[in-house]
Amino acid sequence: SPQIVWLRRDLRMADQPALHAAAKAGPVVPVYVLDDDRAGDHAYGGASRVWLHHALESFGKSLGKRRSKIVLRKGDAPQVLASLADEVGAACIHAMRHYEPWWKIAEDELRDALGDGCKLCLYDGNYLLPPGSVTTGSGDPYKIYTPFSKAVLDVMPPRDVLPEPDTIHSPESWPDSDDLGDWGLLPTKPDWAGGIAAFWEFGEAAAHERLDRWVDEVGDYHEGRNLPSQDITSRLSPYLHWGEISPAQIWHKLKDKRSKGWQTFAKELIWRDYAQNVIDQFPDYPRESYRDYDERVLWRNPNAGHLIAQDFERWQRGMTGYPIVDAGMRQLWQTGWMHNRVRMIAASFLVKHLLIDWRFGEQWFWDTLVDADYGNNGVNWQWISGTGVDSNMFVRIMAPLSQSEKFDAAGYIREYVPELSDVSEGCIHDPPDDMRGDYPVKMIGHKEARERALSAYKAAKG
Ligand code: FAD
Repeated sequence: SPQIVWLRRDLRMADQPALHAAAKAGPVVPVYVLDDDRAGDHAYGGASRVWLHHALESFGKSLGKRRSKIVLRKGDAPQVLASLADEVGAACIHAMRHYEPWWKIAEDELRDALGDGCKLCLYDGNYLLPPGSVTTGSGDPYKIYTPFSKAVLDVMPPRDVLPEPDTIHSPESWPDSDDLGDWGLLPTKPDWAGGIAAFWEFGEAAAHERLDRWVDEVGDYHEGRNLPSQDITSRLSPYLHWGEISPAQIWHKLKDKRSKGWQTFAKELIWRDYAQNVIDQFPDYPRESYRDYDERVLWRNPNAGHLIAQDFERWQRGMTGYPIVDAGMRQLWQTGWMHNRVRMIAASFLVKHLLIDWRFGEQWFWDTLVDADYGNNGVNWQWISGTGVDSNMFVRIMAPLSQSEKFDAAGYIREYVPELSDVSEGCIHDPPDDMRGDYPVKMIGHKEARERALSAYKAAKG
């Protein structure tokens, strides 16, 4: 009898346990349900919708080569799936497990909505380990990254990867499907997504091409990863987020496990698992701080005043007058991605130099990143803000100008802030006012910002 595969962020043919199991059990009906209401303020943002469009198109083509396809439906996922299961007489809905709180609720609701004839089978495989797999000595899930990471490394390597299914049988007749183009995931007027399409190749094959190149480059990662002017990070994040590649595939493909580059890279992959582990324990983490000081005293809220809103907008548009911050914010807008070192600097600038509530930054990243991820984004914003479960403190304030010099960001600034392209190497990190031309002067000095942040923090602690 027919088997439904409920697709979410797992759009790959190989190492996809839900698809693999379904293909063995009977004819397969792959389904993607666009459910915009369920995630509330974390419904997919603009850049995510662009990636989703291309990812569905690409995965649909791969299925097409097997004479299969994706049935596209819109609406409340559990209801849509339960009625589709009735319609096709499905024996089982197979799905990869997801840990965003709205998906956990949807999985429970779906189980309740299914009749006796159909069951829900959930599989792990989007992470090195399912959240909760490693625990502290007292059996609790980890809250702090470092011991979590050690515990994960102790039980690596991850499970073996699964091949693509040998055959995918089609059902006798295909249920109706929406047209992807009618979903309006791509922007039309204005078409702001041209830069994203130019910067990225989408889909599972592109993910593996990227990984093949990364095999030769990972050895330099420990030194190169902090240098935004150089391309020495994997850029696998959107493929991992959308499940176009799995972390187990990456782990097994990178053979030389002794290099420092690999060892540093492995720890970053474990950060991704750590973030899921955090949202599994604290489902509202990307909205609620973990610390107990009075945040109303600490943060400036852009909805509360015109001047604060203006400050926030200058940050969003990359017009703060700090070249490294602006280069990052413009890279984000143009390509849907930002280098990790610059994400840290730009995020820290928002919450400490401008004292704007980290949740506004989290939402802007959510809307503009192609790898926008409920766990990774929330965990990193709280880490930068010093409000999270891990041990970073608010009082550690990054100095954007020295970071820019230290990590040699001149080439990166020239690329993304063309107003400064002629400024000399020595001046580009902080050009004197008369060399700035149309580029704005700094919106606040570092020393002044630092003192304001520290005294606001002191007041908030009470
Ligand atoms: P690499 O350096 O090659 O790392 C390999 C993989 O490890 C990444 O693809 C990613 O899946 C994972 N990883 C690396 N660093 C981290 C990290 N700090 N936390 C969690 N996972 C990590 N990453 C996202 O995937 N989605 C987000 O929404 C996101 N928001 C962020 C917000 C802020 C404020 C900051 C400081 C970081 C954020 N990151 C996020 C983490 C990190 O910046 C990106 O994962 C990384 O830049 C992606 O580029 P890459 O694939 O070349 O990474």
